[in-house]
Amino acid sequence: MIDNRNKKPTAEEELVEASMMGISNTLTPNAIQARIQEIMLEKLEAEHALDQNKKAIRKRQQEAIAKERAARRQEELNQQAHCSHRKENSHPATVGMYSHGNSLMIVCQNCFKEWIKNDCPQELVPTHDAVGGPGVR
Ligand SMILES: [Zn+2]
Repeated sequence: MIDNRNKKPTAEEELVEASMMGISNTLTPNAIQARIQEIMLEKLEAEHALDQNKKAIRKRQQEAIAKERAARRQEELNQQAHCSHRKENSHPATVGMYSHGNSLMIVCQNCFKEWIKNDCPQELVPTHDAVGGPGVR
């Protein structure tokens, strides 16, 4: 449970309390109306500022995520561009998998570059024992 005893009363609560204690009897109806409008405006402005702040934070977060993602993708592309796609014994480092549609997907185990069969350089097509998957023949 939240303990509100030490919480600073809002302007609205103060007005209600003042009204209950008869203090607002010294205010004219116009003055009360003006005070109410002032309080409502204050509330709306505070809400608006909070909204704007949240939006700005969300935008900065999204920008940071997009930047991070692009940097990671670039790093991946750089690695793939410099990868021989071969093991130390010079055999292809690739493995393949037949999809349900029976097309051969090939991936390098060093850099995770992917090919579908016809895109893969012939010398990098994995040997039969390195091919699996549901459509394997
Ligand atoms: Zn590779």
